[in-house]
Amino acid sequence: MSYSYENYDVVVVGAGHAGCEAALACARLSLNTLIVTVSVDSIAMMPCNPNVGGTSKGHLVREIDALGGEMGKNIDKTYIQSKMLNKSKGPAVHSLRAQADKQEYSRSMRKVLENTLNLTLKQAEITELLTENNKITGVKTFSGAIYPCRAVILCTGTYLNARCIYGEVVNHTGPNGLQAATHLTDSLKTLGIEIYRFKTGTPARIDGRSIDYSKMEEQFGDEKVVPFSFSTKAENLLKEQVSCWLTYTTQETHDIIRANIDRSPLYAGDIKGTGPRYCPSIEDKVVRFADKDRHQVFIEPEGLYTNEMYIAGMSSSMPEDVQYLMYRSVPGLENAKIIRNAYAIEYDCINPMQLKPSLEFKQVECLFSGGQFNGSSGYEEAAAQGLIAGINAAMKLLKREPLILDRSEAYIGVLIDDLVTKETHEPYRMMTSRAEYRLLLRQDNADIRLIKRGYQVGLIGEEQYQRLLIKEESINNEIIRLEKTNIGANKEVQELLAQYNSSELNTAATLAELIRRPELDYEMLKPIDRSRPELPADVIEQVNINIKYDGYISRQLRQVEQFKKLENKHIPEEMNYLDITSLRIEAKQKLERFRPVSIGQASRISGVSPADISVLLVYLMQYNSVNKESDK
Ligand SMILES: Cc1cc2nc3c(=O)[nH]c(=O)nc-3n(C[C@H](O)[C@H](O)[C@H](O)COP(=O)(O)OP(=O)(O)OC[C@H]3O[C@@H](n4cnc5c(N)ncnc54)[C@H](O)[C@@H]3O)c2cc1C
Repeated sequence: MSYSYENYDVVVVGAGHAGCEAALACARLSLNTLIVTVSVDSIAMMPCNPNVGGTSKGHLVREIDALGGEMGKNIDKTYIQSKMLNKSKGPAVHSLRAQADKQEYSRSMRKVLENTLNLTLKQAEITELLTENNKITGVKTFSGAIYPCRAVILCTGTYLNARCIYGEVVNHTGPNGLQAATHLTDSLKTLGIEIYRFKTGTPARIDGRSIDYSKMEEQFGDEKVVPFSFSTKAENLLKEQVSCWLTYTTQETHDIIRANIDRSPLYAGDIKGTGPRYCPSIEDKVVRFADKDRHQVFIEPEGLYTNEMYIAGMSSSMPEDVQYLMYRSVPGLENAKIIRNAYAIEYDCINPMQLKPSLEFKQVECLFSGGQFNGSSGYEEAAAQGLIAGINAAMKLLKREPLILDRSEAYIGVLIDDLVTKETHEPYRMMTSRAEYRLLLRQDNADIRLIKRGYQVGLIGEEQYQRLLIKEESINNEIIRLEKTNIGANKEVQELLAQYNSSELNTAATLAELIRRPELDYEMLKPIDRSRPELPADVIEQVNINIKYDGYISRQLRQVEQFKKLENKHIPEEMNYLDITSLRIEAKQKLERFRPVSIGQASRISGVSPADISVLLVYLMQYNSVNKESDK
C-alpha cells in the first residue's frame, strides 16, 4: 500500500562516501534533504582498504576539502597512522595517505550527518524513481512509502543486485553481509538507463594475535603529520600512531593458487562483472605477472577497537580452503586465524557517458549520480563525485550555474571528464598519470586552486576565504621580494653555498636564482636573507615550489591556454551532426549519440579524430555566423 510522506528538495540514495558528501552539500546549501541507506549502521563504511588517500587519491581528498566537502576533516579526526608518500619524488606526486579507524570514521561521519541542519536520515530501500515527462518527481521505498522531491542523487555504490562470491559460495548480499538493493535497477532500465555489471574484491581479515610480526618489516607513520583538511590545525593531529607491516607472498603461495586456479570463480567464469585492472586480486597477479616471484603484502590495522588486520595486496575470491592455505603460506601468517574470508562482489552500475559534466543524467532531468555507481572505484573517487553531484543538484534547484571543473583545474575535473567522455569498461581508479597538467594539480595547492570555487558555490565560509586571500598575497609578495633581492658574492654567501655543495657565485644573484638551484631551497638561504619576513610553513612551501619549478609551471600554463581554447568552444545542444556531410560516419554516430558540450570534449571521444575536429570547427564557425545574422 503506497503512502505519500513529507516533501523534500533532494533525496540522496545511499550514505556511502558519495552519498554523505552529496547530502551534506545540498543541506549546507539550505535545501531540505533526505539521505536514505539500507542500513544506518553502515554510514561511510569502508568495506575494503582501511585508509584514505595515497597517490592521486590524496589529491582528490584535498580538493574535496577545498570545495567545502567533509572527507578530509573526517579522516583528520579518525586517522591512526599518516604518511606522506613519494616524498623523494617531485611535488606533483607527493600524496598524503592515512590509515583510518574504520568504525570511528563511520561514527564520526554519522555524527556530522545527524547534526546538520536541513538533513534527514532514513533507513529504507529505494525501489523506484518517480518521474513525469522524464523529470524527477519523487522516490518510492520497498515498504511503499513515497517521498516527493525535486531532485534525486543516486549513490548506490556496490549494492545494486550485489552478489558476493568466493569459491562455490554465493551470497546475494551487499558488502559485509549487508542487505543488497534488488529492485532499483529495473526502475532505472524503464527510464532507458544503460546498466553495466562490474566487480571488485577484498582480502581476508586476520586476527592480529595470530600474526608473527617478527617476520615482517614494520612500517611507521610520519613523525610530523600533515592534515588533509586546510581547516585542521597540525598541532591538533598529534597522537600515538599504529604501525603497518610489510611481508611478501612466496613461491608456495603462487603454487597453491596455480594448483587451484580452476576453482577460482573468476577463472571459472562464475563472475560476470568486470573488475578493476589496477586493483587486481592475488590470483590475477599470479596469472598475469607469472614472472614475478613475490608480491608485496601490507598488514594494516582496521582500527583501535579490534584485532582485525586487513591483508592488503591479497584480495581474492578463491574457495575458503584455498584461502586458508594461501594466506598461511605468507611469512608471518603461518598460524593465521581468518576472521572474514576474502570475497569478490558483483554489482550493477551505469555507463557514465549517459551523464553531463554536471553529473546530471541526459535522459532524466534532475536525476544526478555519484560514486561507484558511476563506474569508478575507491572511497576518494566516490566522495569527489558525490560532492559535485550534490553541489550541482543544488545549483539546478537554485537556478544557478553548475560547478564544472575542467582537466586543468582539478583531479576531480579529470575524474569526471574521463568518466563522462571516455568509454569505461572497468571500474575507474584515479592515477596521477591520467592528469595532463599534474604539476599544476598538486595536493599542496588544492586550496589556491579551488577554495574560491567553493566560496562561490556557498560551501566555503567568509573567514576561510579571507584566509586564503591573505595566503595568496603573502606568497606573491614573497616571490616578488626574492626575485628582487640581490645577494653579493661575499665570503658568507660563498661559505653557505659550499656547505650545500653549490657552486660559487661569480657575480651577484637574486635569492630566487639561488632557490632555483636543485641543491638549494628557501630554508637553506635563511642565514644570508636578512630581510626575510616570518611566514607560515604552507606559504613557504608554495614559494619554494613556485620558484623552483617556475619553468615547468609556465610551460604547463601555456599548454592549459591551448587546452582552454578548445574547451571554451561550446557546441549548441541542438547541433545535428548527421547534417555535417564531411564528417566520417563513425564520428557522426559517436557525436550524435554522445552530444559533447564543447569542441574540447568532442576531441576526447574515442573514434573522433583530429580531422573530424577540424571539420567540426569550420562547421561551428559557419553555424555561429549564420545564427548571428539571423539573430539581427
Ligand atoms: C568488497 C569490496 C571491495 C572493494 N575493493 C576496493 C578496492 O580494492 N579498491 C578501491 O578503490 N575500492 C574498493 N572498493 C570500493 C569502495 O568501497 C567503494 O569505492 C566505495 O565504498 C564507494 O563509495 P560509494 O559511496 O559510491 O558507495 P558505497 O560505499 O558502496 O555506499 C552505497 C550506499 O548506498 C546505499 N544503497 C544502495 N542502494 C540503495 C537503495 N536502493 N536504497 C537505499 N540505499 C541504497 C547503501 O546502503 C550504502 O549506504 C571495494 C568495495 C567492496 C564492497
